[in-house]
Amino acid sequence: MAFPVYNNRPVMTQILEKIKAYHKIIVMRHFRPDGDAIGSTKGLVSILKATYPDKEIYLQNDDFAAYLAFMGEEDAPLPDEAYADALGIVIDTGTVNRMSNKRFSLCREVIKIDHHIDDKPYGDISWVEEERSSACEMIVAFYEAFKNELVMTKEAATYLYTGMVTDSGRFRFAVTPETLRLAALLLEEEIDTETLFAQLYMKDFHILLTNGELMRRIQRTPNGVAWLYISKADREALGLTVEEAANCVGLMESIKGSLIWLAFIEYDDGSIRGRLRSRFVAVQPLGVAHHGGGHANASGAICDSEEEVRQLIDEADARLGEYKATHEGWL
Ligand code: AMP
Repeated sequence: MAFPVYNNRPVMTQILEKIKAYHKIIVMRHFRPDGDAIGSTKGLVSILKATYPDKEIYLQNDDFAAYLAFMGEEDAPLPDEAYADALGIVIDTGTVNRMSNKRFSLCREVIKIDHHIDDKPYGDISWVEEERSSACEMIVAFYEAFKNELVMTKEAATYLYTGMVTDSGRFRFAVTPETLRLAALLLEEEIDTETLFAQLYMKDFHILLTNGELMRRIQRTPNGVAWLYISKADREALGLTVEEAANCVGLMESIKGSLIWLAFIEYDDGSIRGRLRSRFVAVQPLGVAHHGGGHANASGAICDSEEEVRQLIDEADARLGEYKATHEGWL
């Protein structure tokens, strides 16, 4: 297996020069944040504040995730005028329509740092590495490249490690020797991993019991695509928030022969979010065909109706059937 070779020194140098040139920096991420979106932005902010105590550095986003509340708050909103002389750095956000902070374009210049497939590029400077296991890994690589100038903090290391752990599925997906080398740099800051893992993975007892119920509802297509649909009424009956319901995608990840698994969650406004996951075979094209996208094996989709959900399941079934017919060695 060939690991990626990154020729990123020029773009990282350009980014560092911009950071040095601006007095005001506004850091942003995608909406409905996950551990990587929050970890990468908070991690970079912490490094920059420690390195440049005289600069104004803000974290500006319009939504947050209750399950990641332990990672702390973000800054109160700045007025629109405050953006005009600022450098915007947007991390972990593949496209403009995934942006949490829609005012990002008011910044004088925008830098994109991301690891999603670069379908719709944006930004004055763009550093995208699709093979990276997380955006946090890129921020650590950036730190490592300039570690004589930048200051790492224990707080930043904890944020960045959180994103590396969560986006790589605890170091299972897209992990390279470089991933682990960079993670080791963070561990040297003596992160409290026991507390971190408890915050990330402990569940309330009622969620565990509800998961049992959800597992019984998993369906499988003829070629083995596993799927769960949770309507608004289901959520209410089970006493689940949308975030809790969305986590059901993880319940299907270890079914032999189900190389694609899909969770659909109906939102209060009637729109249906699809969470698409796979091993061996890519699901990203399915996401792109349904108002979404993401990574080869972890993508999102938005369906307008239950018919569209059914169509997506059928497409996934055909894809998996074709894959199984032409490949060996999958599990
Ligand atoms: P999720 O199922 O929300 O965890 O998303 C899996 C991956 O796909 C993440 O990297 C998301 O950033 C990406 N993703 C999710 N929804 C979309 C979407 N509608 N458009 C583009 N990318 C998405």
